[in-house]
Amino acid sequence: MTDTPTPVLAPATFQRRLLDWFDEYGRHDLPWQCGRTPYRVWVSEIMLQQTQVATVIPYFERFMARFPDVQSLAAADQDEVLHLWTGLGYYARGRNLHKAARVLVDEHGGEFPLHSLEEMAALPGIGRSTAGAIVAQSQGRRAVILDGNVKRSLSRLHAVPGWPGRVAVERRLWQLAEHYTPHERLADYTQAMMDLGATLCRRGTPECGRCPFNDVCLAHARGEERRFPESKPRKALPTRTTRMLLLRDARTGCAVEQRPATARGAGCGACPSSMRRQPSRPGSMPTPRAAGWMPAGLPSPMSSATSAWRSPPSRRGSSASIR
Ligand code: SF4
Repeated sequence: MTDTPTPVLAPATFQRRLLDWFDEYGRHDLPWQCGRTPYRVWVSEIMLQQTQVATVIPYFERFMARFPDVQSLAAADQDEVLHLWTGLGYYARGRNLHKAARVLVDEHGGEFPLHSLEEMAALPGIGRSTAGAIVAQSQGRRAVILDGNVKRSLSRLHAVPGWPGRVAVERRLWQLAEHYTPHERLADYTQAMMDLGATLCRRGTPECGRCPFNDVCLAHARGEERRFPESKPRKALPTRTTRMLLLRDARTGCAVEQRPATARGAGCGACPSSMRRQPSRPGSMPTPRAAGWMPAGLPSPMSSATSAWRSPPSRRGSSASIR
């Protein structure tokens, strides 16, 4: 693979075709497109990672009603932020959003460092592409994006071989994205690139018949749209075994503990559990008690922040371990 991109179209032609298509078929009424402040664009970009627009809209509106600006988000408890994130998945996004709000308030006077893409990209949860999207969409300044949708479209247009997670492949895609990005209509162009990937050049079945690039797309010409972008090379998946304790109490509810910061579902409530990779023999799992949960009446190693409920000794409910 060479380091020099081999564009299929001159930038001006690419931009004109894309924006003509966007003007007619793109999405123009999304909640974050109305009042495009850096804060609103940022929250929408984070919520849209791995999540479809239709799912995000009600979450975005609830989030904005409760946290209308960086200051209100920074002042909130993480639990409240995660509560508003419940059901959206990928909770690290919510935690990073909250962390970044505090960094913005503590170190940047509550403002985004829009003058520097590097400083933007250094905020928790904001990488190079999200930083570009915030600057392009809220300021209309030239900044390049390369999110999953854009990677897919460019990989197919140019039949870029290799998995985009590889440094050389990602570098090539950034070069292509840079090559095509215009100097005008940055907010529209950025949204148009996202819309192209989300609505036409979809992961499963691209709608090449409606695509403004179907006469020049290399993957389409070869009939290999679904080959690009190439998948991550497979690794053997580890086996995990979990024992969970379900403790119910008619009066108080169900026992939960807060998942540790490094665990899957970190910060969320879950039944007390213990997890081990590939236990050597059945029955060798540690009990949930070893993971930190203790019944009421005994000295507890858990703070109130990590144990949301304790069973009264006389009312210990039924318990079941689930494997
Ligand atoms: S022609 Fe098809 S594969 Fe190529 S960019 Fe358009 S939608 Fe994607």
